[in-house]
Amino acid sequence: MQTFQCVLLRKHLIGIVDSSGDRLKLFKVSPHCWAFIGNGDDVYHSYGANTGLIIGSEACLVVDTGFHHRTANQLLSVVRKHSPKRLYVLNTHYHSDHVFGNLPFTKAGASIIAHENCRQSMLDQSEGLLNKYRKRNKRLAGLLRRVQVSYPSVAFRNNLTLHLDEETTVDIVHPIAVAHTNGDSVAVCREDGTVFAGDIFWNRYHPNLEDAQIEGQIQALQWILKTKPRRIVPGHGRIASPDDVRTAIRYLRELEKSIRAVRAHKKPATNPIPSWTRNWKMKWLMDEYLRGLRQ
Ligand SMILES: [Zn+2]
Repeated sequence: MQTFQCVLLRKHLIGIVDSSGDRLKLFKVSPHCWAFIGNGDDVYHSYGANTGLIIGSEACLVVDTGFHHRTANQLLSVVRKHSPKRLYVLNTHYHSDHVFGNLPFTKAGASIIAHENCRQSMLDQSEGLLNKYRKRNKRLAGLLRRVQVSYPSVAFRNNLTLHLDEETTVDIVHPIAVAHTNGDSVAVCREDGTVFAGDIFWNRYHPNLEDAQIEGQIQALQWILKTKPRRIVPGHGRIASPDDVRTAIRYLRELEKSIRAVRAHKKPATNPIPSWTRNWKMKWLMDEYLRGLRQ
């Protein structure tokens, strides 16, 4: 039985500490939008994957469900306080740290929404990925013990709109054919100007590019800026301003240039990772990616 301790730290921040000592921070982003911000740097801390919540008086939308049930249950306990008549979940893409927490929501009666390619990727890969993680070691097997893959029940191709009540509208959009994956979704809370970007946007984290097209990711970030957001919740990292999105675009442009050089010469570029990102998390992931390109 998990015990949760909630403390109001300052106006918009509620710290939640679960019995294992993991700390997730719940922020109020805007009148209808909340975000659980992770802070991890490795698989045991879900790579720091964020989840979000948009609350209307009749319905709630949960954006991503985390890597394991501990995160999902914390999120669900916050949702239950609002007793929504309808509960929706959006999987922003198929990666395990964003979808393995689906089951508690399915059991609570939620409709799980995803782009059709995200749903297909989950059908093709999620079981295999879950088994692979479990086999890696006992600690991961324990963390994922209660996870069962639960698939989206609503799939869309271009966009769909949710009306959480008469004044709370969420546009769910697949902005570009391939950005972080080929099945990305972004959720825009129209009245608040808050965007939940999924892994199209990593804020002060080095991004996972295993399924990505960098040019597509840049275009998707530019699309986000065109919505004129006030606040952006990234897939990983702190709640951001439009300037942080511009920084992510600059990073990807510089990285793309370095990658082109690495590919052309098949040898380490002098400085493939922009030096001004030395404090960013998950550098090990980018090192791994660049090593892969050189082989
Ligand atoms: Zn991802």
